[in-house]
Amino acid sequence: MAKKVLVVAEVRDGELRNVSFEAIAAGKTIADGGEVVGVLLGDNVSSLAESLIHFGADRVVQVNDAQLKTYTTDAYQQALLQVFDIEDPEAIVLGHTAIGKDVAPRLAMKLNAGLISDAVSVEVEGGEAVFTRPIYSGKAFEKKKVKEGIIFATIRPNNIAALNQDANRTGDVATITAEIKDLRTTIRDVIRKATGGVDLSEANVVVAGGRGVKSQEGFGPLQELADLLGGAVGASRGACDAEYCDYGLQIGQTGKVVTPDLYFAIGISGAIQHLAGMSNSKVIVAINKDPEAPIFEMADYGIVGDLFEIVPILTEELKKSLV
Ligand code: FAD
Repeated sequence: MAKKVLVVAEVRDGELRNVSFEAIAAGKTIADGGEVVGVLLGDNVSSLAESLIHFGADRVVQVNDAQLKTYTTDAYQQALLQVFDIEDPEAIVLGHTAIGKDVAPRLAMKLNAGLISDAVSVEVEGGEAVFTRPIYSGKAFEKKKVKEGIIFATIRPNNIAALNQDANRTGDVATITAEIKDLRTTIRDVIRKATGGVDLSEANVVVAGGRGVKSQEGFGPLQELADLLGGAVGASRGACDAEYCDYGLQIGQTGKVVTPDLYFAIGISGAIQHLAGMSNSKVIVAINKDPEAPIFEMADYGIVGDLFEIVPILTEELKKSLV
């Protein structure tokens, strides 16, 4: 049954994150022939509206307000509730990102909507949107649908393919003025830690290091490998706990969830809590000196040996093949 679907885009540093386009693709499926409306929040985000239409949105509504420049729960919640009130959608989609995880449950509660979080795919069965999502730390998958009321979903980045960009697509862009007031938080400044430039949760290649990397300096060769492949560096909690790297790089049950095309697990044993964050990667390469390490059960390619010897060799060989 055709539905009106609102897709909340995500903007970081003035640019749309890829998950916005993936969410539009999910929205198209859920809409089942209905309308997909992109929602843009920010300060001076008008220039981004066209991209949402090129990637499949039928039209865009935007709220431009200085208080939306950087995400805060209160400001986003207030603005989005007013947009939802005006648009009256049958389904709402956000990325399962730090923002989506924070704001979606609050909004779903306010709208008395069923929330399906962290969906990795969606299809229409018998006229209803059916979502697939991982459970038990990724060991199994369940299928879920919302039986009545608004469908609210967050989608895991890097799982649902964005539609092909079509620069000839056109659509209406409308501006809504939202009343945003009584904010409990004010962002004065955002100081980002250097992470090599590529966003870990959206990277196509992740080079992750564990306690086996043994030091902060030990991550240098991993960063070099990641840079060569246009990827991002990640880490196990073991490495973060040992202060070899920042917790912002942690992958796993209590860290980030990644789904790259290529995942290197280097000096990582493969604890269940780590696997929860990377087991859906398309190709997994494990480097570990212990042939019994559990990570090898998950890996597509395993290299048994000392990472300090193997990583530089791998990087040198890749340099030759990439020139
Ligand atoms: P280790 O288990 O110590 O493994 C190090 C590996 O390096 C070993 O396999 C060793 O053989 C190998 N090695 C050592 N030297 C070399 C060398 N020179 N060359 C090659 N290999 C070498 N963990 C996460 O990662 N993410 C999470 O989100 C997370 N959440 C958790 C939540 C809870 C509630 C709990 C209880 C735990 C959580 N953990 C998480 C911790 C998890 O259980 C493991 O302790 C952690 O993943 C281990 O990190 P590691 O693999 O780097 O270290």
